[in-house]
Amino acid sequence: MYYISLDLEWNQAYAEKAIAVQKQIACRLRGEVIQIGAVKLDGNMRICGSYSVIVKPRFFKKIHRHVAELTGISQAKMDLGMSLYEAAESFRRFCDEDFVFLTWGPDDIPMLKENLHANGIPTDWLERTYDLQVMFAKENNDGKKQRSLEYAMEFYGIKQTLPAHDALNDAYFTALVAQKLQVKEDVKNYHLLTGDDFLENTVIGDADAGDAGYATVAKMLDDPQNLNPVCPLCGKPLERQTKPFHSKGQKYISLFHCKKDGDMFLTLRVSKNMNETYRAKRTVAKATEEDINLLKQKMKESAAYKRARSRRRKPKAEASAK
Ligand SMILES: [Zn+2]
Repeated sequence: MYYISLDLEWNQAYAEKAIAVQKQIACRLRGEVIQIGAVKLDGNMRICGSYSVIVKPRFFKKIHRHVAELTGISQAKMDLGMSLYEAAESFRRFCDEDFVFLTWGPDDIPMLKENLHANGIPTDWLERTYDLQVMFAKENNDGKKQRSLEYAMEFYGIKQTLPAHDALNDAYFTALVAQKLQVKEDVKNYHLLTGDDFLENTVIGDADAGDAGYATVAKMLDDPQNLNPVCPLCGKPLERQTKPFHSKGQKYISLFHCKKDGDMFLTLRVSKNMNETYRAKRTVAKATEEDINLLKQKMKESAAYKRARSRRRKPKAEASAK
């Protein structure tokens, strides 16, 4: 199996242009990839190949001043780039058959996915990815989770001998940091490293990323995975304890119970897709006694508030009926 350390540079659009384009193509596109850089490591973490390509953007065709300054990629250089279609094909060939991606931080893979999706290119080969930033934080018991690549390089005494913010150089230094980490072990135990307390953590109805969105929030709540979910730990149906409680920030929280594994919250953080349908970040987490009491308190307050509001409204309604 190969480990592919990956780094991207992407062009930003000026704000109005970004919104207009995303509306037009009805999918998320926060930036457009203009350079793919990658370094290939073999099963013994020895460097055995490298890849770099400049990609010509299709939607945000004018290079953003900051991006040009940061990356040193000029408009002229960008204009001579490959199409993303060709670049994706050649990059995939470089990756070969059996590989996983290593990135520094969580941003590159979602960005590449968005770009491929916006161009109708399959993304199924981007599924096996690992964030070295997470491994670094865990291995060094570093409370700060988001250290820069420069920090990690300095930590391991790796000299910055090539300019940063070039995708290939950054992928190369990412590979050197990877060589200092217990990548093989960490890949095996990755789910233990990610450190969040979620038993499940997914995005549902993400139309901006090509899934089917939910026409209404009610339909989302009625989806069997939300209405009658199964326990992430034992796979048995969960027993519903409360109706979904609508709280601030378009959040819907339901309390469930598993006979074997105890109380759990299922939370849906709803947002709107570009095509006016709904998606949500869906999480399941163990619920402590304290959390449950807090939720019940909030539900009581909200019910009292609704009763008071409907009492205030009634006389008005009667008056207008006359
Ligand atoms: Zn269970």
